[in-house]
Amino acid sequence: MNLNELTAHQLLEMIRDRQVSQLDVLDSLRRRIEQVEPQIRAYVRLEGRGDILGCIDTSVDGFESSELRGIPVSIKDNICTRGYNTECCSRILQGFRPPYHATVVKKLIDAGAYVMQIKNNMDEFAFGSSTENSCFGPTRNPWDLERVVGGSSGGCAAAIAADEAVVALGSDTGGSIRQPASFCGVVGLKPTYGRVSRFGLIAFASSLDQIGPITKDVQDAALLLKIIAGYDPLDSTSVDMPVPDYTQALINDIKHIKIGVPQEYFIEGIDEQVREITLQAIEKLRQLGAQVYDISLPHTEYAVPVYYIIATAEASSNLARFDGVQYGIRSTDQNPGIDNKIIQMYKTTRGEGFGDEVKRRVILGTFALSYGYYEAYYLRAQKVRTMIREDFERAFNTVDCIVTPTSPSVAFKIGEKIQNPLQMYLSDIFTISANLAGIPAISLPCGFTDKGLPVGLQILARGFNEEMLFRVAYTYEQNTEWHLRKPEINGIPACNRS
Ligand code: GLN
Repeated sequence: MNLNELTAHQLLEMIRDRQVSQLDVLDSLRRRIEQVEPQIRAYVRLEGRGDILGCIDTSVDGFESSELRGIPVSIKDNICTRGYNTECCSRILQGFRPPYHATVVKKLIDAGAYVMQIKNNMDEFAFGSSTENSCFGPTRNPWDLERVVGGSSGGCAAAIAADEAVVALGSDTGGSIRQPASFCGVVGLKPTYGRVSRFGLIAFASSLDQIGPITKDVQDAALLLKIIAGYDPLDSTSVDMPVPDYTQALINDIKHIKIGVPQEYFIEGIDEQVREITLQAIEKLRQLGAQVYDISLPHTEYAVPVYYIIATAEASSNLARFDGVQYGIRSTDQNPGIDNKIIQMYKTTRGEGFGDEVKRRVILGTFALSYGYYEAYYLRAQKVRTMIREDFERAFNTVDCIVTPTSPSVAFKIGEKIQNPLQMYLSDIFTISANLAGIPAISLPCGFTDKGLPVGLQILARGFNEEMLFRVAYTYEQNTEWHLRKPEINGIPACNRS
């Protein structure tokens, strides 16, 4: 058994008992990265780096007794690490080295984690569902190298699935943690909005973004959330509520837990096998003692259009700062025909620096906010957002949690949807509502199609009730074996989790 295949909680025990050291773990990761990374490409800017060493300091007082004792954590390319490139996989941020750590990174380091310098691939600025929008090119799915990994935190999910990382942090604005987790057969959690500080997360849509863990099992997700959650004076949207010890919520018992199954999530167009496998998982939960109820979330059909108005509007505003002055590249294109040099510099920098999907969203969002259209689009979208949130509030008056498929399909082929943005946007149809409502949601593996592709089960709960997610997900995981399966990567034999 190679150390890189183990979960953080397994490794922690071994490090505690002095069976292995942090450096053994790193060595094992380094070897695995060398072995499979040429095919997977879960990391960016790896070329030319002889090491994967990050912000570890074993000399820190109390390191030996710290919570994470040098466990390596892999980070998405939109989470700031002081002094190390953080580029959102965009040309415009090439060479950007933040002068500070994101709060989550600081918390990890304080807890004794080893934050890896090399970062995970993602869709540019987190705009996408396949990681094909990265300026570094796509990551390949460890279960089938011809297929996408999902997105936008695709590099994190692939690194975990391929055992190139132990645990990872991604971000989720409309499904970017959960959908890639489901496509790669791993666990992904989007916390309640405000549970985790967004300070140092390069903003996409500020009212929707949350950072969360992508891990090999539910226990690791609880372990990580406990460390990164909590109020942060540097993020006014973080909420000042005590952080529970989430590992205490890992209870293998869901007797009498009330589970709602929304009819709107089993619509036409959903992959037949995804539907069947999800229904089987719900049946399993019933056998384990849960009470299952049919429920309705009547405004579900508006989630995608509402999201693509609000998210693009906020994105167009957040991305206004990338103009060649403070961050990343500046165009050297001098056009002598234009009088106003500074405006010309903004234009050429943004024209050269942003990819197609970013331009599309900036244009869409600017339009939605423009004079005369603001009320028809942005304001109306905000009103419908409230209705979606109220759907959930009503549902949680009768059930403890809601269970759905994470995505309407399994991983699709690379190139299959990239020319059709609408098709791509529809792959978020089941994940977006949680962001609009601000509630927490987890995705965990619940089966495989006959092509051997993983299917994800999504569980949603009331705001700040992550403990419910952990309890239900943990019980399901303890009584099934899907999370133990490992992909065979192009002739490299699968390793098996135990
Ligand atoms: N796929 C969705 C989008 O393209 C969500 C992305 C995200 O959560 N960052 O916007």
